[in-house]
Amino acid sequence: MPATNRPVYLPHDPLTPQRDITHTHFRPGETVVIFKGVAGGRLWGNAVTVVAPSWHTPTDEAGWRVLDPAGGDRSYVTAHPRYLVHLSTGCPECLVHQKALREYLVPRIGTDEDPVDCRWYSLTALNQLVHVADSRGSTADSAVRLT
Ligand SMILES: [Zn+2]
Repeated sequence: MPATNRPVYLPHDPLTPQRDITHTHFRPGETVVIFKGVAGGRLWGNAVTVVAPSWHTPTDEAGWRVLDPAGGDRSYVTAHPRYLVHLSTGCPECLVHQKALREYLVPRIGTDEDPVDCRWYSLTALNQLVHVADSRGSTADSAVRLT
């Protein structure tokens, strides 16, 4: 059988939920990326622009409204700071995260040129971007809300 028929295996993302990034790590006007998978042996995702502070309701924490130029009629979404990564080499924290994510994902996904979206993120009806780790009704979370 050709190699392209191998089963598609989508790894979980144990790294993004563990990031210790504060809200003030980002500023309006910055270009950041939301990594969603791998393409060609490199991290792959959406480049977005940080617009303004915005409450991230899925986590009940301070988030950022970001502009995704490729988002069509849902170009403006609210993301948690830990979803965002500076591409600039001037940010050691984000570089460390990028490197760890790449070293975790590339061996699991491979180096095919076609992008592989690991489907970690979904968008709520209110345009809140939510990572799969934040969308579960976790009973371990002391801040369980009923709404
Ligand atoms: Zn950074």
